[in-house]
Amino acid sequence: MRLASINHATEACEADIKGDVIPVDVASAKAVAVAKPITQTERLPLAEARGRILAAGLRASVDLPPFNSSAMDGYAIRMEALEGNGPWTLPVAGRAAAGDAVRNSWADAAAIQIFTGAAIPQGFDGVLMQEHCERAGERIVLRRRPRDGEHIRRAGEDVTAGTAIMESGVLLTPQRLALLAGQGFVETEVIRKVRVGLISTGTELRDPGAPLGPGQIYNSNRVMIGTMLAAMPWVEVIDYGIVPDRLDALCEAFGQAASRCDVLVSTGGVSAGEEDHVVAALGRQGGALDVLKVAMRPGKPVKIGLIGAMLFAGLPGNPNAALVTFRQIALPAIRTVGGLRSVSPEWSPAVAGFDYDKRLGRTEFVPVRTAGRDEIGRPVLEMLGRGSSGSLMAMAMADGIALLPPDVATIERGMPLCFEPL
Ligand code: AMP
Ligand code: MG
Repeated sequence: MRLASINHATEACEADIKGDVIPVDVASAKAVAVAKPITQTERLPLAEARGRILAAGLRASVDLPPFNSSAMDGYAIRMEALEGNGPWTLPVAGRAAAGDAVRNSWADAAAIQIFTGAAIPQGFDGVLMQEHCERAGERIVLRRRPRDGEHIRRAGEDVTAGTAIMESGVLLTPQRLALLAGQGFVETEVIRKVRVGLISTGTELRDPGAPLGPGQIYNSNRVMIGTMLAAMPWVEVIDYGIVPDRLDALCEAFGQAASRCDVLVSTGGVSAGEEDHVVAALGRQGGALDVLKVAMRPGKPVKIGLIGAMLFAGLPGNPNAALVTFRQIALPAIRTVGGLRSVSPEWSPAVAGFDYDKRLGRTEFVPVRTAGRDEIGRPVLEMLGRGSSGSLMAMAMADGIALLPPDVATIERGMPLCFEPL
């Protein structure tokens, strides 16, 4: 359900003021619910598909391995040649290396020398490792029977032709591409890239390289959010640079982005101050918001909604707030647009190495460094910056972001915590 449908600036401001403060998980679920997965696809050669998102589930077209093959260097043995009690001396009828075709002359042989990866001829029951046989000229001496199927990889034991091997919406890792190559695929169908627009709002902002005038600061969010997006091969970043805190300028930038992007991420200008025009500009562009305020620190005034078909994520300007809201709330929704099956942040178990008082009912995200391990191997987290959430330095030194849950007011040393490695 949409919280607010905003058509002009006054309504926008009212909605902002009246909007409920919702928990982080509810906000991220709402963001995911409003995000519409892209359905267009493209075909790519396997070598270009790393990090892209598989468009449709795949079935195996062939068995893997395709034929019975040896898992060891040794001797393939036909069990019926082993009469009575051993040791047995058997003639070695030939030699099969990986890539060799099976010879007709081995049809009745008792033993052949075989190498890892070579096809096992019909009727051979097991492979004895070369270390367990004695070779004497053209014969071998065996002291025990191979077990049935010993060191034989059966056709189809890894993958059986016709079975499902991959679900749609998975990220194509090198390992998954290896499986597709093993199946003989040349190309694969992936979801087209998500076009994500990026806007840094703030009249005070300058990009590094430009001289700073009075009251001006450098734009940190552009490179931070931009490079996090660019690190995802399924995203195409369209960077609109800095937009000043003026309604007309924001309207124009939002309009431009809406005609081209699937998602727009902006930073700054989302609070309720007189210089915060993001919500009003979104209203002017016919946008609607589903998330207005989140019970989190940093990042309370994060805005999520739609401008036309484009997902909009208006993040606060404070770089740590932008980082945290991007990862916790915007990214799951962007992953949904991209067609990914798994969209939530990945939390690692850890334990607090600090004491800290926080507000009950609010989720706090703090930069942490791992300082050793506890007795069961969990990382012990040290908090950086003592709660000064605006510190670029603390976040730069952090190994990750710890989640301090809403239902506790006091974090004590030894308390289990979750953290997201950065
Ligand atoms: P805002 O969310 O616009 O109220 O901004 C909050 C604080 O973050 C202000 O001190 C801004 O100057 C600062 N800020 C906003 N955008 C950026 C940015 N792109 N890079 C660095 N600091 C920023
Ligand atoms: Mg601002």
